[in-house]
Amino acid sequence: MKPPKTAFIYSDAFLRFKPPEGYPWSVKRTEATYQLCRKLKLLNHEWISVYSPVPARESDLLSFHDKRYLATLKKANEGIFKERWLKSGLGTTECPVYKGVYDYCLLATGATLLGVKLIDEGSADIAFNPTGGFHHAGRDFAAGFCYVNDVVLAAKRFVDRKKRVLYVDIDAHYGDQVAEAFYGSSRVMTLSFHESGKTLFPFKTGFEDETGKGRGRGYCVNVPMPANTGDEEFMWAFKRIFPPLIRSYKPDVVIAALGVDGLVLDPLSNLKLTNIGFSQAVQMIKDNSPKLLAVGCGGYSLDTSARAWTLAWAIMNGLGCDEEDLMSFGGTFWGDGVCALRDTPSFIPDEIRKKNMKEIRRVVTAIRQTVFPVQNIVH
Ligand SMILES: [Zn+2]
Repeated sequence: MKPPKTAFIYSDAFLRFKPPEGYPWSVKRTEATYQLCRKLKLLNHEWISVYSPVPARESDLLSFHDKRYLATLKKANEGIFKERWLKSGLGTTECPVYKGVYDYCLLATGATLLGVKLIDEGSADIAFNPTGGFHHAGRDFAAGFCYVNDVVLAAKRFVDRKKRVLYVDIDAHYGDQVAEAFYGSSRVMTLSFHESGKTLFPFKTGFEDETGKGRGRGYCVNVPMPANTGDEEFMWAFKRIFPPLIRSYKPDVVIAALGVDGLVLDPLSNLKLTNIGFSQAVQMIKDNSPKLLAVGCGGYSLDTSARAWTLAWAIMNGLGCDEEDLMSFGGTFWGDGVCALRDTPSFIPDEIRKKNMKEIRRVVTAIRQTVFPVQNIVH
């Protein structure tokens, strides 16, 4: 079978932005992922292209964002904080004002919109922008490290081109503002697997009974998971929800937010996943997507994120870490035949695992009762 054409979207221009010291959403993530992919020869096959993004135009942002909010964000680009901006979420520790912040948003959004363009014109079947995935940015506010919602803008652009879009989000945090943007629409199905809002940002939302409204009822699917959920429990739910939904919805294109902050080595969530479970989910997404636009989303440990996204890129290109593939990587990184990109399994005591499985079963059952009938899924 002909391999899909894939596009890796990268620019070292991201490195020139300087958010405050210690800011979790590092501008180095794209660079680190790109360098690791390059080192492992994951970018030099004939079906793979590396593209450099150009900044989005202000007019591109207006299909979702409020004009006045964008004017404020543009002023914030000077790097001088004004207290009145706090009501737009600007100037908090999560969304600091710094010199070039608006330019950063334009370039990151431009990178995701480049992915849309490449897929739309047939230059790529799969596009990956590790920098993207700002799923908490609202129409007129910034939140959770996100100022401009590239995902909503990308989905809207696909919808404008008469495409059916499925958005799947495996970041530890609920993809709240993407779900919100399409809550009343059946043209974009949003599906988010995340740590429950009982214990994690954005809090008090993202529950299984939030299923959409009006024409969108049954097109918003939330799978909240308890703290300390591990690979096995996560995948138990993922396998029961994602494949039946994508098969019945039949999207033209899938947008995937491949957040890696649910990994046990990441400091910002209470999930206990490893990149082994993460890889299984990515594989399933890739195998079921007619076209795929993937974005990085959250990831706050640079090394952990770069390894997981490199694995994701390998999977998107059918270059897994199986024995037969080792040769194509050159072998040196894979001591004892074990893929060094892979995490070691994380240990979760039986008692916690059982308790969490009970809760996850309850959530999956609820979704089967509320969403599956709308989607005509017989189970
Ligand atoms: Zn996150």
